[in-house]
Amino acid sequence: MRRVRVRFAPSPTGGLHLGGVRTALYNYLFAHRKGGDFVLRIEDTDRTRFVEGAEQYIIDCLDWAGIPPDESPVHGGEYGPYRQSERKEIYRKYAEQLIESGHAYYAFDTPEEIEALREKLRAEGKENLQYGYDSRMLMKNSLTLSVKETQKLISEGAPYVIRVKVEPGITIQFNDIVRGPIEMSTDTVDDKVLLKADGMPTYHLAVVVDDHLMQISHSFRGEEWLPSAPVHVLLYKYLGWEDVMPQWAHLPLILKPDGNGKLSKRDGQRLGFPVFAMEWEDPNLGLIQGFKELGFLPQAFINMLAMLGWNDGSGKELFSLDELVEVFSMERVQSHGAKFDYEKAKWFNHEWIKKMDGAELLPYVLPVLEKEGLDLPDNNKIETIINLVKERCVLLTDFVAQSSFFFKKPDVQLDLISGKWDEKKTEFFKTLSGRWSSHDGWNHDELETSFKSLAGEMQLKPGEVLLPLRVMLVGGKFGPGVFDIALQIGREETLSRINEALSCL
Ligand code: GLU
Repeated sequence: MRRVRVRFAPSPTGGLHLGGVRTALYNYLFAHRKGGDFVLRIEDTDRTRFVEGAEQYIIDCLDWAGIPPDESPVHGGEYGPYRQSERKEIYRKYAEQLIESGHAYYAFDTPEEIEALREKLRAEGKENLQYGYDSRMLMKNSLTLSVKETQKLISEGAPYVIRVKVEPGITIQFNDIVRGPIEMSTDTVDDKVLLKADGMPTYHLAVVVDDHLMQISHSFRGEEWLPSAPVHVLLYKYLGWEDVMPQWAHLPLILKPDGNGKLSKRDGQRLGFPVFAMEWEDPNLGLIQGFKELGFLPQAFINMLAMLGWNDGSGKELFSLDELVEVFSMERVQSHGAKFDYEKAKWFNHEWIKKMDGAELLPYVLPVLEKEGLDLPDNNKIETIINLVKERCVLLTDFVAQSSFFFKKPDVQLDLISGKWDEKKTEFFKTLSGRWSSHDGWNHDELETSFKSLAGEMQLKPGEVLLPLRVMLVGGKFGPGVFDIALQIGREETLSRINEALSCL
């Protein structure tokens, strides 16, 4: 049995989109389920699209999501370098090997020459405008030039690319783990460039060479790569590696909420939801906030992502990362696109906030509260407060509104109670304040009992005075149990808030 080795192979071209993190997640789950290795390979051979900082950002996103790779440019490993730009010479060697074996050739045509020929063919009514088996013999390449002419051009430093010589009429077959048996003809496949004029490989050559040399057993990638699969199968064949070709799975797209096409970063801007894992400064769109900054727990984020295209068949939706590792299978990934639903994403977050206790939530909530500049008590007390309010928090950022009155005096919306205010209520709160200031215990039940008995003595329904007490302590009509709040903020602060409100009413 071959050791399971999978790879996530992003190009460092910008923010890490939901779809990319999901691919990484499925790789991670598969590797961990099978006791294999999860490799991060940086595919940075397209220097025109390279973005400074994007590689570190990808690594940071995987760390935040809790799915770090085992091998990568920063984690190291036995199969490095893990950055394609550092493997340039390796690709050249294989491109030349393909030329030797007659499966590739040098092509010297300039883009203008290729366009001119296309024009000519178009004028003759020829539809197939690809550089391939039916046009390659009309072009300027090592198939049409003599060996001598070819060598002369190369030694003179003429720019050239290396193209694969695709044999037409072959039916390529392979089994896609998600899509089942795939059959495609090489007739429509053009002679793809393998090595570019700058000496860098294209994706087609690099992915085959690297997956092979890194001993990748399974390649999971976006479905946009399915049309390229025949070239890759041919390259495995031409390089003599067909027997150890990885097993492929082409993952479904993540779709816009209405199902109309692929979810893009612009959809996020337009519809007001995140599409990146973490915030990213986009040259055209500016600073785009990610799931992290908008208050998602990584646990919820990966749970939601796992379910975008996969389920375990039981209807269960809430899974921890460890549980996912237990039950995940690539065979259960659906082949059709999965619609992104932001409300559902928030539902996952809310469920996870409810599921985790104060101590587990503390590391995520604390930075959110600290950012507000609140004067915070010790961690134990914050954990207690988190437990009191978490039911009401869908996003981590909701903890600010739901708990800041524990840490500082709120702006009290007295108009919520002033309409129904009367002397009797003033009397009630004055007496209450007096009793509570000399009350022995300061605990939930005693506060509640003394409050209710005073209401009884004064023939007030508890409800009539509970809401005013809440507004005095919290500022508005929300929050957890009012005696829990009084308990947490303490005697002095409770009385001060009551008395301050009384002086304004
Ligand atoms: N660099 C490719 C991409 O970002 C990788 C595709 C693959 O996983 O093979 O889409």
